[in-house]
Amino acid sequence: MNKTTSRKRILILGGTTEANELANSLAQDPHFDVITSRAGVTKTRKAVSGKERIGGFGGVKRLKEYLREHQIVAVIDATHPFAQAMTVNAFTACQDMVIPHIVLSRPKWLQTGEDNWIKVQSLESAIDYLQAIKKPLRIFVTTGQKELNNFTRISHHHYLARMIEAPDINPLPLNLEVLFERGPFSLENEIKLLHNHKIDIIVSKNSGGNATVAKLHAARKLDLPIVMISRPILPAAQIAESLAEVHSWLSDHGKTLQN
Ligand code: NAP
Repeated sequence: MNKTTSRKRILILGGTTEANELANSLAQDPHFDVITSRAGVTKTRKAVSGKERIGGFGGVKRLKEYLREHQIVAVIDATHPFAQAMTVNAFTACQDMVIPHIVLSRPKWLQTGEDNWIKVQSLESAIDYLQAIKKPLRIFVTTGQKELNNFTRISHHHYLARMIEAPDINPLPLNLEVLFERGPFSLENEIKLLHNHKIDIIVSKNSGGNATVAKLHAARKLDLPIVMISRPILPAAQIAESLAEVHSWLSDHGKTLQN
């Protein structure tokens, strides 16, 4: 690709609210030319400022080709804290190519004395935990559509899932009910939902952030247990916990970014 501008080209790996906010704020900065990359999992997407690309890169080798071809001078990985594969690939590619790289990762949720969390290390462990409970439960499963089938295979439980779009499961299992709603959700909304659907237990990833935190507050109020899945182990990358930290990282690197 020919260089058409002296603006430094930044790649944001997105799929999160934070990635959109970052793209919108960096697009105001005349020093940067921002490309936001999304996996293309959801069909409906919020528009962001700057350029966009959709779809996987095709592994580390192809990602490196993309970074080279598009003269990317810095990568900000603002993917979801559970998007482990993309984060590992981006870290590896940037290390190999000596491209400045930072992970924007929202702080995880912390358990308080009033929370009843069953902490598990992985989705598989959450499934094993539920499998071992013989009494049929009504479960609010909030881990996303990718993993839904693994839960519904435990057929003696009933599941409620909340999605932005219809899950790619046809036909829907009989023990699954799907609600279509996009966050952020209020405490009032979450209490009503848990109450109306007679939920016994919630399954959640420790995603952090404000958009979906109300379910934790509602569970606390209703004294419901949460099977809380810990975050995957990620590479030893530099981490920023806020947009402000990314902005300050970029301004520290500003003069040395190559393009
Ligand atoms: P993942 O397991 O890390 O990624 C699987 C593959 O999808 C990656 O290897 C990559 O394909 C492609 N990919 C992921 N993020 C991409 C991006 N931003 N741009 C281009 N390609 C991307 O991720 P996931 O858990 O399936 O999540 C997919 C996307 O949904 C992520 O972008 C994430 O931010 C968002 N998201 C995930 C969750 C969650 O709970 N996991 C929740 C909310 C949003 P190639 O190897 O072909 O490059």
